[in-house]
Amino acid sequence: MNKRRVIYEGKAKILYEGPEPGTLIQYFKDDTTAFDATKKAVLDGKGVLNNRISEFVMTHLTSVGVPNHFIRRLNMREQLVRKVDIIPLEVVVRNIAAGSLSTRLGIPEGQSLPRPLVEFYFKNDALHDPMVSEEHIAAFGWATAQEYDDIIALALRVNDFMSGLFAGAGIRLVDFKIEFGRWFENDHDMPRILLADEISPDSCRLWDAKTGEKMDKDRFRRDMGGVTEAYAEVARRLGIIRESGEETDNVIHFTGGSK
Ligand code: C5P
Repeated sequence: MNKRRVIYEGKAKILYEGPEPGTLIQYFKDDTTAFDATKKAVLDGKGVLNNRISEFVMTHLTSVGVPNHFIRRLNMREQLVRKVDIIPLEVVVRNIAAGSLSTRLGIPEGQSLPRPLVEFYFKNDALHDPMVSEEHIAAFGWATAQEYDDIIALALRVNDFMSGLFAGAGIRLVDFKIEFGRWFENDHDMPRILLADEISPDSCRLWDAKTGEKMDKDRFRRDMGGVTEAYAEVARRLGIIRESGEETDNVIHFTGGSK
């Protein structure tokens, strides 16, 4: 088999050159990191679950008109996506106080916010992804004024839609991080803003609506255990994998790990 060209390798994913121009293959690893990669682990089956969950969410977002990079899932760990120029911003939307918002502003974790908050962080590991404002984004040219407006509007639409999607599965969408890219459909056209990267329990805070139990990466950050099991429960509740747990066992089995 030809060795595929790696375009980029991140902490939890690898991007390979795609089969057609303008496409990439996004591969989901089992590796997980937190706190600027000072904490690391391999969680058997996590990549398989995130591939499926991200496919599910992106496909639904396409159907409600949120343009995104997802084309189709290729196999257990890979999906075909459009190649975009990533805008160097992490866009966080919050509905309930948690994580760095609680730490920074002293708002107790779990307090509902008066309205969804959209925050921007400059994507730069060496600088620990510092929070930035519209002023910085405009002054340093990370996005044009039109792109900034598009990004806010899309982020809020993603939040509205996903809040409903998860609520239907008995899950509260506390907050999440998304990324956007510029897509040049034709070389001479103006780029379009597409939602890119992934949407999964690695990038969202998801709490059980009844018990408040955490079903996301905070389980790893806080050494709570049961990380992959919680991700599998999210997939089960969304109807992505079967109720019986059989498929989860297969997921774990396929990846050569143990439960
Ligand atoms: O840490 P913080 O509270 O700012 O995170 C907000 C949301 O963004 C959480 O859902 C977290 O999982 C996600 N996030 C992420 N990648 C980062 C930073 C935050 O997926 N680098």
